[in-house]
Amino acid sequence: MGILRDSQLAFEHVVPVAVVGAGACGLTAALAARDAGAEVLVLERDKHPAGSTAMSLGAMCAAASAEHRRHGIEDSAERFVADVMAKTQGRADPRLARAIAEQSGPAVDWLTENHDVPLRLDFKWTSLGHSVPRLHLPPGRNGEELLSLLGRACERAEVAVMTEARVRDLHAGPDGRIRGIRIERPDGHTEDLGVDTLVLACCGFGGHRDMVAQHIPDMANSRYFGHEGNQGDAIHWGQALGAQLADMSAYQGLGTLADPQQVIVPHPLLLEGGFMVNLRGERFTHENANISGMCVPVLAQPEGLAWVVFDGRRNTACLAHSVEQRQLAELGAIKQAASWDELEQRCNLPRGSLERENSHIDAARRAGQVDAFGRRFDGLEPLQPPYCALRVTGALFHTQGGLVVDGQARVLRPDGSALPNLFAGGGAARSISGPMVTGYLPGVGLCMAITLGRLAGDAAAKSSQRQPS
Ligand SMILES: Cc1cc2nc3c(=O)[nH]c(=O)nc-3n(C[C@H](O)[C@H](O)[C@H](O)COP(=O)(O)OP(=O)(O)OC[C@H]3O[C@@H](n4cnc5c(N)ncnc54)[C@H](O)[C@@H]3O)c2cc1C
Repeated sequence: MGILRDSQLAFEHVVPVAVVGAGACGLTAALAARDAGAEVLVLERDKHPAGSTAMSLGAMCAAASAEHRRHGIEDSAERFVADVMAKTQGRADPRLARAIAEQSGPAVDWLTENHDVPLRLDFKWTSLGHSVPRLHLPPGRNGEELLSLLGRACERAEVAVMTEARVRDLHAGPDGRIRGIRIERPDGHTEDLGVDTLVLACCGFGGHRDMVAQHIPDMANSRYFGHEGNQGDAIHWGQALGAQLADMSAYQGLGTLADPQQVIVPHPLLLEGGFMVNLRGERFTHENANISGMCVPVLAQPEGLAWVVFDGRRNTACLAHSVEQRQLAELGAIKQAASWDELEQRCNLPRGSLERENSHIDAARRAGQVDAFGRRFDGLEPLQPPYCALRVTGALFHTQGGLVVDGQARVLRPDGSALPNLFAGGGAARSISGPMVTGYLPGVGLCMAITLGRLAGDAAAKSSQRQPS
């Protein structure tokens, strides 16, 4: 994994736009490059492309899309930037936030209208940092479907995708211009290919334990629940080429990964009145204060475990719209009981603990006041029997730090100059989450993949056309 400086090597084939990685970012970049008239080749290390994209909920945030206008919701790039800055306490890069805010809505509209990847506005995941509904999902509401829709769009656009092709090294000139790539096949043999431009869409470093220990020491021993192919390859190449890295300590976490089933517990259960307790049966946090940051208090509890507590009515409503909740039901993860006493026994929680916590919540609700954790329950129906619970833990999902890029997804050096023909997006690029876990706004992962992917593909195609053939 490195940079090869053999400037004498002549390539038999030269591709105008090469893209490393066939997740949401890579496939979107490829579509944009094709739209701009360039030939494009996507290289993917796996036999069947999946990436973190296929593991995701498929929810991308975007500002001021056609969907907003269709539903009469007023949104704007300014409003999105203000939400990003509030969430990150002013620590996100304002110029990148602005570029993403301006381009995210058009990216959703372009995929929906030009490439038959329909992304519809969702109203279940509100607040959590977005001042208006901003999450856009495919009809089946999951990342596998999003990836397969993007894959089909690429087939229609005649994008070439080479699988089982791990890009191992980059050939670069003394000025940092990428001349080619070295691909490694599963049997170990390698191939060299010339490129005019290169898009790094091979995500972050969550799967590389040493890099996590170095940059996010708090999560060094925690569960990683992202794609194992996220090995930090883009970061390694970028560093060797003198690119700037930023916000390497930032990540998307989650405190509600079902244990041991490893299925994401739908957050609407908590948004709509559910609560969490630790193994001592005690509440320990405002459950909706920060969805990404929730992994920290959950992992700080005894055994790093907690229970999400809700009721049968909320369970039924959730089953109707959530693939994950249906999976959890099929796996027998949802404990259900006719009384608090019975649920405490089923969850091995101290007698009286759930009833006590629920009565504190009811008291705050009746008084119309915030509870001991600063959470409001007024306006939400009290929990009614049967009561339900799911055991959860916290996990690292996706790193948010990476290569610093500009509004055209060009990879930048520390002095602000751009590397000649290198672009990056998605998890390979530094995000708009600031340097900490609490800065992650829902849907930003896919927003960075799709918005920057489109910008990168378009810019790479236009830049490749300027190259002498
Ligand atoms: C469980 C889970 C749920 C999530 N839910 C959401 C959500 O609902 N909304 C949201 O916005 N974000 C979500 N995220 C984050 C989101 O999935 C990522 O931000 C997004 O998928 C990143 O897209 P990508 O294209 O950059 O990376 P990926 O989808 O990971 O694709 C990168 C691809 O590059 C390939 N690759 C890596 N190295 C090489 C190499 N050297 N050569 C060739 N190929 C290579 C990998 O195999 C992979 O296929 C979630 C993440 C997880 C783990």
